[in-house]
Amino acid sequence: MKPAPFAYAKARSLDDALALLAEHADARLLAGGQSLIATLNMRLSSPPLLIDINGLDPLKRIAVKNSAIEIGALVRHAQAEGSAEIARHAPLVARALPHVAHPAIRNRGTIGGSIAFADPAAELPACLLALGGEVEITNATGARVVKADDFFKGLFETALGAGDILTKIRLPSARPESRYGFAELARRHGDYALVGLAAAARADGKALRDVRLAFFGVGATAVRARSAETAVERGEDPVAALARDLDPEGDIQASSAAKKHLAGVLLRRVLAQLAEPRT
Ligand code: FAD
Repeated sequence: MKPAPFAYAKARSLDDALALLAEHADARLLAGGQSLIATLNMRLSSPPLLIDINGLDPLKRIAVKNSAIEIGALVRHAQAEGSAEIARHAPLVARALPHVAHPAIRNRGTIGGSIAFADPAAELPACLLALGGEVEITNATGARVVKADDFFKGLFETALGAGDILTKIRLPSARPESRYGFAELARRHGDYALVGLAAAARADGKALRDVRLAFFGVGATAVRARSAETAVERGEDPVAALARDLDPEGDIQASSAAKKHLAGVLLRRVLAQLAEPRT
């Protein structure tokens, strides 16, 4: 199918993009286009205007500041995959990126687009949640910061509102005691996950503290398994606790029961990763 007709404007700066958004309430931002163009082609969306933000160079930067790493919204998946700063300061993201789609899509898709689109089966929203990161959002009145726990509101629904542009994400830098785990099950490598899990924790001797388990593909958003997190910290059985956290709906790929089973399988795999010192 072809998209409904739309107008196109290339923003020259962040201020220009914000002014265009303020003037055209129904416009959509065009980042990598890897999700947006498909929704236009399928006529799931028919905005009258696309505002192309690909020329906003300040949003393409990766910076390490005050025990955190900032990743600009327009950093492409492929750029992030090749980044030494991300490998060092956000190894969970580095581990997840090869699972995001295929190289051609990673060459265009952006980190900000992935977080803003908030597909419930996507890897990066779950990483943001597992790391306890935050999102910087700018609109005509200024910038605000939203914590990952408050950002994902519902199916493809986030804290972004009319006139907002996601400008960067901020993640706490890895420390020697940081532990990470990532696993997903997909029918083919690069497909959206049937079920996935991104996890972070802090090693304290043989115990794990500050455990954050963010599942994806099991609900309307990436979701933290808080009972299982507590069980890990107390040395109890987190797989049994998972039944209190997750109640996935079945879909065309897997039944609810199959997803629950797979979530337990992934949790065991990720717990083994969390127990290993980072190399
Ligand atoms: P776009 O498509 O340009 O935009 C997506 C939405 O976000 C639009 O509504 C747009 O207006 C909004 N938006 C974009 N940037 C901003 C911003 N800075 N501020 C506010 N709103 C913004 N993703 C995965 O995570 N895992 C997968 O396995 C996966 N598989 C894929 C397989 C295929 C075949 C395809 C085509 C895509 C797949 N994707 C997958 C999606 C891919 O990762 C996209 O790149 C990503 O979801 C969107 O990024 P984008 O830059 O292309 O955003």
